[in-house]
Parts: sequence; structure tokens; C-alpha cells
Amino acid sequence: MNHGVMVKVRNLHFGYNSRNILTGVSLEVFPGEILVIVGPSGSGKSTLLKLCAGLFYPKDGDVQVKGLNIHNAPKDDVRRLREKIGFVFQDGALISNTCILDNIALPLRYHTRLSESEIEKSVSRKMELLQIDRTYDYLLPAQLSLGIKKKVCFARALVMEPDIIFYDELTAGLDAQDIQTTTGIIKDLKDVLNVTYIIASGDISLASSIADRVATLKNGKIIETVRGMG
Ligand code: ADP
Ligand code: MG
Repeated sequence: MNHGVMVKVRNLHFGYNSRNILTGVSLEVFPGEILVIVGPSGSGKSTLLKLCAGLFYPKDGDVQVKGLNIHNAPKDDVRRLREKIGFVFQDGALISNTCILDNIALPLRYHTRLSESEIEKSVSRKMELLQIDRTYDYLLPAQLSLGIKKKVCFARALVMEPDIIFYDELTAGLDAQDIQTTTGIIKDLKDVLNVTYIIASGDISLASSIADRVATLKNGKIIETVRGMG
């Protein structure tokens, strides 16, 4: 067990079908840190995030989150760990036939026994935090821009008050105001709640402005890690 490291990736290999995407990724992320993974489109950033969150099974190597092997630990341990991991998917991954309010409330309904009024309170707080307009409450994801969907997805990732957030593509589809709001909240939460972030981004200048460290993924490996300005 190594609790001094939040996420430890060791010699990770993964491919889709016979095509290798990651060929020996190693990485350590420390508690309370913002680590941004940059790399060209198609380099495997989304794949790496999903592997770290336990959504895919690696071909070789392993991922420890809070000292627990996320792919091989006992099921109950992994389930408890997952409750403390938030994931903001690149495309939002909201449930298409379910309104915004219910999309954000979903993890609470699934994992907790909170009353409807407690759920409503928690959802409202996150929407306020992310400045999501309440006129969207009963709209479906398809009725919203990608920028709003991304904020809704961030709110959903926050409702369980996670220790770690995987955030896939920070800026894609967001206008300047949304980017400012989102990056501001990421930094605030890091300071207040000590949330650890692993963010994938194609935007290197934004990445270094928010990151404690920036790791570059290329040709299946992390080729360099440098200090950011966050
Ligand atoms: P990035 O997020 O850096 O743009 P991805 O992790 O999305 O990269 O994808 C890495 C490579 O894997 C790309 O070439 C992509 O086309 C391919 N890929 C991604 N998902 C799948 C999948 N489900 N099946 C087959 N190939 C995939
Ligand atoms: Mg991606």
C-alpha cells in the first residue's frame, strides 16, 4: 500500500484489437495535484484515463489508485473506491432520455440512500458552483451545447464528493467564459477539498496554466513530465 501516491501507473500496455495504443506508460500522481496529460489527437489520452479509472482492462502493467489495484482488487473494495472517483467524459456521456437534474443526481440515487430533498440540495449546490442555468433543469442533453453538457457532466462527477477526478478534454467545445469558470472551479476545489485531478487536454498552453505537472503522451509512452504554472 502506498498512500503517498494517489494514482500509480506501472508499465501499462493496451491496444484495441491488435493495434497497440499504449506501450509502457508509467506515471505517478500525488494527492492534491493537478496533472495534465497532453498529446496529439489519437495518442491515447482518453484511453489512458479510462484505464486509470478501471473502465478498461490493461494487456500488461497495472494501475493502483489509493494503494488499491483497480483491476484486480476484491469487487467490494473496487466499488467503494469507484464511489470516490469522478469521471468527466470527453463527449459528456450523459443519459440521453433523462433530464439534466436527473443526470446529475444519478450517482446519488445509485450509490446512496439520501432522501429526495437531500439529493435536490446536493444537486443544486453543484449547479450553483458550476453556474449552470436552472432553466436547463428539465431539458434533455441533446437540447444543450457541448459546453453546457460538459459542465453538467462535471457536476455529476462532483456529486459524490470524489477524491479524484478524471477530466477528459477541458476546453473542447467550451467558450472563453466556460473555460474560465471551469478552470477556476478546478483550482478552488483542489485547494478547498484537496481533490486530485488527472486531466487530458489537447491545449498545451491552457494545460500548463492550470497544471502542477504536465505529462506528454506520445507514441504510446509518457515522453516527458514538466512542472506547470498551476
Ligand atoms: P486521444 O484521446 O488522445 O485523442 P484516444 O484514446 O481516444 O486518443 O484514442 C487513441 C487511439 O485509439 C485512436 O487512434 C483511436 O482511433 C483509437 N480508439 C479509441 N477508441 C477505440 C475503440 N473503442 N476501438 C478501436 N479503436 C479505438
Ligand atoms: Mg480524447
